[in-house]
Amino acid sequence: MNIQNYINGSFHNPIQNTWLDNYNPSNGAVYGQIPNSSKEDVENAYQAAKAAFPSWSQTTLEERSRILIRISELLESNLQRFADAESKDNGKPISLAKAVDIPRAASNFRFFGNAITQFSSESHESVGQDAINYTLRQPIGVVGCISPWNLPLYLFTWKIAPAIAAGNCVVAKPSEVTPMTAYLLGEICNEAGLPKGVLNIVHGLGGSTGQAIVEHPDIKAISFTGGTATGAHIARVAAPMFKKLSLELGGKNPNIIFADCDYNKMLDTTVRSSFANQGQICLCGSRIFVEASIYDKFKTDFVAKVKALKVGHPSLDSTNIGALVSKPHLEKVMEYIQIAKNENGTVLCGGKQVTISGYENGYYLEPTVIEVPTDDCRVNQEEIFGPVVTLMPFTTERDVLEMANKVKYGLSATLWTNNLNRTMRMTHALQAGIVWVNTWMMRDLRTPFGGVKASGVGREGGFEALRFFTEAKNVCIAYN
Ligand code: NDP
Repeated sequence: MNIQNYINGSFHNPIQNTWLDNYNPSNGAVYGQIPNSSKEDVENAYQAAKAAFPSWSQTTLEERSRILIRISELLESNLQRFADAESKDNGKPISLAKAVDIPRAASNFRFFGNAITQFSSESHESVGQDAINYTLRQPIGVVGCISPWNLPLYLFTWKIAPAIAAGNCVVAKPSEVTPMTAYLLGEICNEAGLPKGVLNIVHGLGGSTGQAIVEHPDIKAISFTGGTATGAHIARVAAPMFKKLSLELGGKNPNIIFADCDYNKMLDTTVRSSFANQGQICLCGSRIFVEASIYDKFKTDFVAKVKALKVGHPSLDSTNIGALVSKPHLEKVMEYIQIAKNENGTVLCGGKQVTISGYENGYYLEPTVIEVPTDDCRVNQEEIFGPVVTLMPFTTERDVLEMANKVKYGLSATLWTNNLNRTMRMTHALQAGIVWVNTWMMRDLRTPFGGVKASGVGREGGFEALRFFTEAKNVCIAYN
């Protein structure tokens, strides 16, 4: 199945007619082609967005809201089709795409369709000076949205929905590794009555198509989710042009388990927070620290549960772990397992590629648990982004806090304890944008979402996203 760019409300081949292969990770086969778009395609997308902006930015909030909610409804009524497409493109179990990815993409549109009707700006009365200040929050113009492959439609729409809700027009690029659901979204937008040019989707490689968006002098803001190295590169390109930047980057999140936690809930959730989506979620807890008094019990119970996870074809209901997203990514993750061994890590389970009958060329890997002797090893410091977690005991709150914070990243942290004072101390001291206590991945879309340190700059979610996608202009009126 060939994919086309979605520009000005219709579908187009890339101008230079060059294409990339699109792989199905479950069997390693090429199943379609996607545009390898050039600067000229990005320019066409920009021109369409620019032309649409005057009218879209003046469209009433009720009308914008109505269209966004209609897109949400259409995604819901096409749930199976989108879940199948997401699974085929990414390798994730269809059950996961159906339960999480596509419903969340629909929620993103519904949420921001509602949020824009509640968004307000501030006013400040300058008492004693006979003046009043009010703040306008005006759409920026044409903005760029660039997203990764792990939660393809979920993260793509998490940017697009607030951008268009706030009155901007968008040039967007999904990951070339997982372009399919973004392509299908174009049809849904047309059916929902989104005016042409408000959203333009250009497919292609990061280094060329993505780069052309970031470099474009008139695309005034970039919302990016992806790796830290790419984020640093984008910041270097965009900073001298004074673009607004929102960067959601990598993570190496600690999962800290104290003996006083609700053990069974912790154990089940930790299996999920380690291996959901083949461990390819930026919020997965990839470094597990367990209080020494329950370390041996946890190790035995956790490894037993992980061994019971079923690696299989993404279409089967029985599958817990599908395929990794691509061959290079599988190779990268396997390289890290070797690095762990070289650094005296002990593989407690997993560690090997899995061959599935009938799908021998798929990118399957056993969920892997590695006991590490020290926190200073590479597998505890570098992002692996696959079905691999490390395990270490700790004795004091101070020690575990030091290890938790001793990475360059600071996206999320999970804490398991029923001690209130400890909860308060630790949640204040953990260097992360999100801390979950006695839960994981529980999301309320109104809350600020993002990381500190090398995990990013800025916050998405709720009104934070609407603030990012608007410029604040203060107006001061003296009345005497
Ligand atoms: P990448 O950084 O490789 O790519 C992300 C996106 O950026 C892709 O669309 C990519 O294009 C594009 N891109 C690459 N180079 C450039 C460039 N020079 N200019 C503009 N765009 C470019 O990340 P991955 O896709 O590999 O995603 C995995 C990473 O994303 C992990 O580090 C993970 O932690 C992080 N992530 C962070 C999240 C967060 O909320 N903080 C959430 C989810 C993931 P293409 O791939 O098509 O070449």
